[in-house]
This record gives sequence, C-alpha cells and structure tokens, in this order.
Amino acid sequence: MISTEVLSPTPENIRRAAETLRSGGLVAFPTETVYGLGANALDETAVGRIFAAKGRPAADPLIVHLSRADGLAEVTRAVPPLALRLAEAFWPGPLTLILPKSPAIPALVTSGLETVAVRVPNHPLALALLEAAGLPVAAPSANRFGRTSPTTAQHVWQDLHGRIDLILDGGPAPIGVESTVLDVTASPPRILRPGGLTREMLEAVIGPVEVVRQKRTPEAGLPSPGLLEKHYAPQAEMILFTGPGARQALTAFLHEQRAAGRRVGVLATDAEAAAAEQAGAVVFRLGEALPSIARRIYAGMRWLDSQGVELILCRDFGEDGLGLAVHDRLTRAATRILHAP
Ligand code: AMP
Ligand code: MG
Repeated sequence: MISTEVLSPTPENIRRAAETLRSGGLVAFPTETVYGLGANALDETAVGRIFAAKGRPAADPLIVHLSRADGLAEVTRAVPPLALRLAEAFWPGPLTLILPKSPAIPALVTSGLETVAVRVPNHPLALALLEAAGLPVAAPSANRFGRTSPTTAQHVWQDLHGRIDLILDGGPAPIGVESTVLDVTASPPRILRPGGLTREMLEAVIGPVEVVRQKRTPEAGLPSPGLLEKHYAPQAEMILFTGPGARQALTAFLHEQRAAGRRVGVLATDAEAAAAEQAGAVVFRLGEALPSIARRIYAGMRWLDSQGVELILCRDFGEDGLGLAVHDRLTRAATRILHAP
C-alpha cells in the first residue's frame, strides 16, 4: 500500500505531479477521453508499476502521450506522411496512431510489438503536465483491468487508491470514451478501436478506412442465454439489446425481471427514463444525443453498480458518429447480447 493523494490542478500541484513522473512514480490525470494512469514511457521500471497497479496483463500495450507532435521523433521511427497529415488535422485530440517504434521505447510499453501507440491529448491539464514533465508518458486508462474506464477522479480513487502516487482532479472527462486507435502502418489504415474521433471525421480527411470488427456476435432470438467474455465491464450482469426492436424488447424484459422480483438498473436516454422508472427500474439518465451518451455511459455503469442492481439493461444507439465507439464498449461490457429484429 502507498498513500495516494488527490490534488487540485494548481500550477504548484502540476509541478509536483511532473516531478513524480520524472522520479518514476505513477500519476493519474484527466484527458479529454478518460483519466489516464501515467508513468515515464522511457523508464521500464516505472512502466512496470502501471501494469502492477492495474492488474493489467503484460500482453496489452500502452499508449504513449506527448505534449506535441514534434515529440514523435523521440518515440517512433519512419513516420509515414499520412500520419503527419493526421497529426496536423487531429492533434491534440482523441486519435491514437500506431507507428513503428523507436528503440528508446522499452518493449514493455508495446508488449514486445515493433509498433507503438501515440497521441497528443486535447486537455489543458494533461498538456500542462506533459509539458512540465518533459517526457513521453505511457498512460493506459486509470482503472483496474477489466473494469470500465474512469471518467472522474473519484472513479480513479475507487479503483486505484493505495496503488498509485497521485491523482490530479480536473473534473469529468468531456468525451467519456477512449481514443480512436488507428493503425497507419496498414493500407488502407485500420481502426483497431473506435473511439472519441469518429470514423466519419477521419474519412473526411484521408478517405476510406477499414474498421476491425469485434468477434462477439449477438445471440440469435430472444431471450437465449449464453456467457460471453467481458471487458470494460460493470460488476452486475449486463444485457445489451440490439436491432430495430431493441427498445420494445428491453421494456418487455424489464417487466419480466421486475415481476420475478429482481433489482434491475437501466441506462436510458432522458426520453426513455420515465417509462423505465415506472416499471420499477433504477434508472441512470444518459441525456439524449450521442456526445452526452458517450460522456455518461461509463459513469452510468459505475453508478448502477453502486446502487446494488443485479442486472443492467441498455439498448444500442447505432453505429453512426460516436455511436460506433459506444456500441463497441457496450458490446464488451455485456454479459449477453440480445438481438431483436
Ligand atoms: P488503454 O490505454 O487502456 O485505452 O489501452 C490501449 C489500447 O491501445 C490497447 O488495449 C490496444 O488495444 C491499443 N494499442 C496500444 N498499442 C498498440 C499497438 N502497438 N498495436 C496495436 N494496438 C495497440
Ligand atoms: Mg483501458
């Protein structure tokens, strides 16, 4: 156990946090996507502490954060012109580029891969910290492995207090889902993980990209049980309803479960919340439009867990814009996916 301090983002505290990074410590900090858990990316021992604190398997590589694009020279080699165009268009921002790695980056950061994931986050506090540290900072999401990503300093505290040195509290993360991971070593470039920068925005600048699909497929019919592998998941069992009949299927399922006496949570849009409440669900309101849904989805899962629900129900919100990232995270969080034609 180490004692974890939560700091407000004063210039003095940012200097302290930068000093902690320089001396090999772990600092959680806000980015525009989610909170990251940072360590000096050039220091293998410090990076090892990230994996230990999170309980993250060494086979899951980290994203290296820079304060500006010219830091690419230190952490990569042979940056293709396409990557420079993307950096110009979208950095600072929620786009992570996969590039050939420089020998300066320890193998632990990239899980032994010859490529490294890099981005410049668009958050004033993250940029001030990176600038003050003067280092590339390896930072995965600041949650225990397998849990949902933290979008507030309180979420980081819940998962990691006693395991990291500092948490810089910069308020809620404005985007709420992780960055878009784009492999620019492939042609056409491939989205390995949809995220805060939409496919449409990318394609407007560089033309068609490929989206690498999740292997998980919905179960046929309704309701047919079956366990799927979970990640980014709440503690309660979670059921995702997909397809054109998703809303009606969710409502019918909710009534059944309530009749059976189960304590059920629902992640609902504001318009759908009242009906779920009337049916006796514990409801977390996501707002109405996709930016709000993305911003609140992880917080909603954590809040429903804190309310002691046995079951969390949510419907899909489509695959346009930020919907693709939300769809990806809901798919990973779900214990079951029920498709309603
Ligand atoms: P996190 O920082 O927790 O959002 O996780 C970072 C994610 O970025 C990893 O789980 C991978 O999916 C992806 N990633 C990082 N480095 C690489 C790489 N070199 N090649 C492909 N994907 C990567
Ligand atoms: Mg993560």
